[in-house]
Amino acid sequence: MRIVQVAAEFAPLAKAGGLGEVVVGLTRALNNLHEDVEVIIPKHDLIHPKILENARLEIPDFKCVENGRQIANAAWQIEAEGCKLHLLEARHPSGYFHRGKIYGCDDDVPRFLYFCRMVAEYLKLKNQPIDVLHLHDWHTAALALFIRDLMSLDVKVGKIVLTIHNIEYQGKCAVQDLNAVGLDGVSYLTSTKLQDNDPNYPETINLLKGGIVYADRIVAVSPTYAKEILTQTGGFGLDSTLKFCKSKLSGILNGIDLSLWSPESDRHLKHHFSSTDALASIVKAKRKNKEELIRRFQVSSVATPWVGAVTRIAEQKSPELLEEALVQTMRLGGVFVLLGSSPTPAIQSHFEALKQKYQGHPQVILQLEYDDALAHQIYAALDLLVVPSKTEPCGLTQMIGMHYGVLPIARSTGGLKDTVVDCDNGLKPSAERNGFLFEKATAKEFTETLERAILLYKTNPATFQNLMRCGMHLDFSWTKPAKEYLKAFSASVKMIGFNTVQLSPIMEQNKAATATKPKRPSAPRS
Ligand code: ADP
Repeated sequence: MRIVQVAAEFAPLAKAGGLGEVVVGLTRALNNLHEDVEVIIPKHDLIHPKILENARLEIPDFKCVENGRQIANAAWQIEAEGCKLHLLEARHPSGYFHRGKIYGCDDDVPRFLYFCRMVAEYLKLKNQPIDVLHLHDWHTAALALFIRDLMSLDVKVGKIVLTIHNIEYQGKCAVQDLNAVGLDGVSYLTSTKLQDNDPNYPETINLLKGGIVYADRIVAVSPTYAKEILTQTGGFGLDSTLKFCKSKLSGILNGIDLSLWSPESDRHLKHHFSSTDALASIVKAKRKNKEELIRRFQVSSVATPWVGAVTRIAEQKSPELLEEALVQTMRLGGVFVLLGSSPTPAIQSHFEALKQKYQGHPQVILQLEYDDALAHQIYAALDLLVVPSKTEPCGLTQMIGMHYGVLPIARSTGGLKDTVVDCDNGLKPSAERNGFLFEKATAKEFTETLERAILLYKTNPATFQNLMRCGMHLDFSWTKPAKEYLKAFSASVKMIGFNTVQLSPIMEQNKAATATKPKRPSAPRS
């Protein structure tokens, strides 16, 4: 099968979170299953120049239209992490992918719409039939419109598959944004196409909705998330569209890339360990990894356990409970470690203030930046990993943590619910239990669970270590998910004709609203 994946990220070259890791892990696993896979991402300026030394200029100059102007672009090809990667360079006057970051700019919608146009033009020039065009999140969803509506004769694509990594980000914009890249914006402003489902904003275009409507298959990144996004609270306004497209939706749990994440061979660790070692050796190696951090950050050598998180400090990740974890871990005599930064300036400055407050404290390590090597070293040292997310589509950190002998303390949602089994869950065999779960994202429930975990660590090390062992033995590799993706790629689906679908009640409601609502001057951007 010839599969082309299109995404905003590819780890470790250009990574902001889990998406980049998923793209590389899935691609490698599909390659191992002898599929022909290529990946296309923007040529972000944050890709290290050393990596680009091996890049080959594939197409030196191809044009894209934006607001009637012809803009020059180039395509580069590179072999990265064992994958065939194409980097599309926009020589755009606004420096679209020269921002020192992947997302978080005011013009993210025009930037990624432009990227979709670039990919469409590039695929047209390449003129090679594609069995599966695999899109990831709203950033690439509009590519489906170009392929099916504008270039169906020029780019032969069998199936379009959309993976939803996070439904909270939808790429909301205005008709003019579609016009800018050469699409007929107003023709998409219907309830069966890209019109946002919020009846208060009938003029708003929703790119992720477009991906959902146009895709032949939709994959959510865990089975529980596939169910949650069909509900009113979990669908963030797209539940009615997803319900309507339910026959093409499934949930596939992400894997972790074991060539990057394996405590026996991790290039960032001085002290390796493996799930097949004796428990005493694992504990000893983890202690040595703690000592490295004790020396580096000058924290207490006697305080235990080590509790921490490696995370984007986004609202979704419950920043208030991460702070609670810090306070409670200190109270209970442990060391708290947080590696993370926030896309939200107010949250970032709050944590900067906490860092000031606890500067030099022997029980606190707060590193408010992105540091891949340190992330590996922290997982290898921690005893407990807190993942108190309000929503968590899949979550990679709990799986990485378990693989490194860390017990997760997680809220029971999305992929956390699919991977963490509470140590007191009497309905599951003890060999399947691997951590601690709580239901409500409240300080009370979280603290009770943290206390339960620390009590077990302090009073019953044998049981605690057995739980570590259970987590380390789980198979989080990409092999199984890649096979499930292949099934999804080849499953026959009933195609939905965009012009002939029956309207759901909410869509009818939107249609009526469009007719009566006044125009909003500008649509929300994200
Ligand atoms: P999300 O994609 O929502 O950010 P995931 O749990 O799916 O969350 O994936 C996060 C990935 O990013 C994990 O591999 C985690 O280790 C990594 N990560 C998050 N924050 C940092 C950071 N500050 N430094 C290094 N790695 C980080």
